[in-house]
Amino acid sequence: MIVYFREHELHTMPSHPENAGRFERLEGLLAKEEVRYPEPAGEEQVLRVHTPEHLRRIASLSEAERWADADTYLTRHTYRTALLAAGGALLAAYLALEHGHAFALVRPPGHHATPGRAMGFCLLNNIAIACAEMLARGVRRIAIIDTDVHHGNGTQEVFYSSPEVLFVSLHQHPLYPGTGMVEETGRGEGEGYTVNIPLPPGTEDGEYLDALSLALSVVEQHSPELVLVSAGYDTAVDDPLGGMMLTTRCYAEIGRRLRRFSKVAFCLEGGYSSSALAAGVEATLAGIRGQSEEYEPRGRAKLEEVRRVLRRYWNA
Ligand SMILES: [Zn+2]
Repeated sequence: MIVYFREHELHTMPSHPENAGRFERLEGLLAKEEVRYPEPAGEEQVLRVHTPEHLRRIASLSEAERWADADTYLTRHTYRTALLAAGGALLAAYLALEHGHAFALVRPPGHHATPGRAMGFCLLNNIAIACAEMLARGVRRIAIIDTDVHHGNGTQEVFYSSPEVLFVSLHQHPLYPGTGMVEETGRGEGEGYTVNIPLPPGTEDGEYLDALSLALSVVEQHSPELVLVSAGYDTAVDDPLGGMMLTTRCYAEIGRRLRRFSKVAFCLEGGYSSSALAAGVEATLAGIRGQSEEYEPRGRAKLEEVRRVLRRYWNA
């Protein structure tokens, strides 16, 4: 099941990589899938993650069509579009609880947005808003797996002190925004519940899937009632922003390996090649449905430092 809303097109800027053209190859997928339309996220839902000042600032920047920072534009439609994207993540989480899995094909993305700051093309943190709603509804031990090529600094910040939410990120390092070091493991009661696996530019399918195996073994130890995936496709070999080299088969394998979890909601983050994005989402869906072959390419990631830090908290 896919969550999608066509009004995402109203938040666009053709000269910017995060523009409506990212979705231009999705027509085929949307035509054959069951598609659900989201409601905009409500203020109460947004304010579980963001400050009231942040929400007001997004509204006023949108009205004035001003940029939030050097990377992050707003149009007069952005405020509503961002609320719909957050609502899309919420709906996908509810659908996953009911049907096993769902995919929110929404933009603008969210994982860089912190409680008080828009950055990195992100206005509202869609997946964090969905996660906070699920916690408020009594879902326990949620895991967020962030597979975007960039570190999900905003999501990490929101749940940094929470032992209820395990945040696991695989990302390229060095790369924007520069966070996501192995030693960033959480704070207070949340210590150990943030897991960062930085990977070098040039990472290929085999190394990536090796790192994913370690990540998923930690997620299993958390016994999540719900898995949320910040699904980025800017890890693709032909993505113009990321430096990783993942193929479409890798996205199918990521989906296939997530089948061990009974409830999985995907929320789109980055992915700036429209063809890699469409092929990647389709492959992920085939994988989670068990329609892809097992794929075990050669390659081992350098994970000694990650394991050394993880062993303080988990079997790794
Ligand atoms: Zn990204």
